[in-house]
Amino acid sequence: MSQSLLLFEQALSLMTSRSLWPQFHPENTPYIVFDGQNTTLYHTPPPSHAWTRDANRLVFRGRHPSVTANTATVLENGVVAASLMLNGLPSDPKTLAAIAVHEAFHVFQQLNPSPAWESNELDAFTYPNDDEEMLALAVMEDEALTCALHDRHDWQTPAGEALEWRRRRQLSLHPQHLNYERAMERIEGLAHYVEVSFLDQCPRVEGDVLKVRQRAYGVGAAWAVLLDRTGLEWKLNLAEPSMSLDEVLAQRLAPRTVGEIPRAVHQRANESAMRVHRQRAQEVAAFEAQRGESVWIRASSKLWLRGFDPMNVIVLSGGQLLHRRYLRFGNDEIEGEVMGQACLSFSSSEPLLASGIDEIRVLGVEEVQVTEEGRQLEAPGLLLRSKQGRWCHEGGEWRYTAVVEASSSSGTPSRN
Ligand SMILES: [Zn+2]
Repeated sequence: MSQSLLLFEQALSLMTSRSLWPQFHPENTPYIVFDGQNTTLYHTPPPSHAWTRDANRLVFRGRHPSVTANTATVLENGVVAASLMLNGLPSDPKTLAAIAVHEAFHVFQQLNPSPAWESNELDAFTYPNDDEEMLALAVMEDEALTCALHDRHDWQTPAGEALEWRRRRQLSLHPQHLNYERAMERIEGLAHYVEVSFLDQCPRVEGDVLKVRQRAYGVGAAWAVLLDRTGLEWKLNLAEPSMSLDEVLAQRLAPRTVGEIPRAVHQRANESAMRVHRQRAQEVAAFEAQRGESVWIRASSKLWLRGFDPMNVIVLSGGQLLHRRYLRFGNDEIEGEVMGQACLSFSSSEPLLASGIDEIRVLGVEEVQVTEEGRQLEAPGLLLRSKQGRWCHEGGEWRYTAVVEASSSSGTPSRN
């Protein structure tokens, strides 16, 4: 057994039936984990004949297609499991167990559908995350929340100030972006809350204010800890009607008056915006500078989104998105997956991705193999299958060419 799997089993043994959330049982949740070699499954019967039993675990050779990230995933028989890619995760069993608890909470959310767990990930692409005023207000909110978490005697004053900073920010935020932020605070913030509760730690509000999704982990967990202090039975009342965590807190706590934003905070907000822009430009330049072959994917009709990693997307101008590690797409002609490798998608219409993808570029591809009469292209991190067209090599670039047949009546090209 690999070292990382051994570590994961130690982590599993640390899970107890201690209540972190009503009806949530991470100790019994199915887990599917990939250790870089094989995939192992726990706490559920074999979902298909592709699995072999080894003591209390089930083993699948190689990476099972349902494991693409640390998240909740659906197995071939419909069972929802917490999936973990063990390489790159912490080597301390307790911390690893806490991450598994976080992903198990996403399984719990999927098995207990509620408006509280609904969101539209694509709203993040238009979120105004380089507006300096909004950033400064978010910094003030984060600072007030941090004070509230650490001041146990008078936590209400800074918590009320955090509510007021949020209220001010709401005034210029589009409702869809406000909904997205609050949904993420419930979905990811509460998963983070059970994770830190498992470790008996206090959440830290330290996410980059420019990254709305990442920021929601700490902020959502912070609202949850403050709600616990009110003595309210808030966990069971969250879904109906669907309320945001800050709105529930505001029922118990009035916003407090706050002053002006200090100049230094404006300056910090401005500097962090510049820094993130610089980092993004560097990542794009590194993507463009990759050696190796390139693959250009454009079908005769739009490609549809099958899966992506919202934590690893950089929004560029002109309808382009840089996917740092994962994208799955397809249509009647092509099915494709880019995994562990960056690719660039271009959509000519909004909302990006949801309205279809016009083209995808993968750079730095090596060891390309084209099989099945030119229909399947495979390389490390890349698998493209076409039903009717072919992959052709032209000037260092692999391109997909749809098979075009002449129509017998009009001579106009048609596709089938
Ligand atoms: Zn999560």
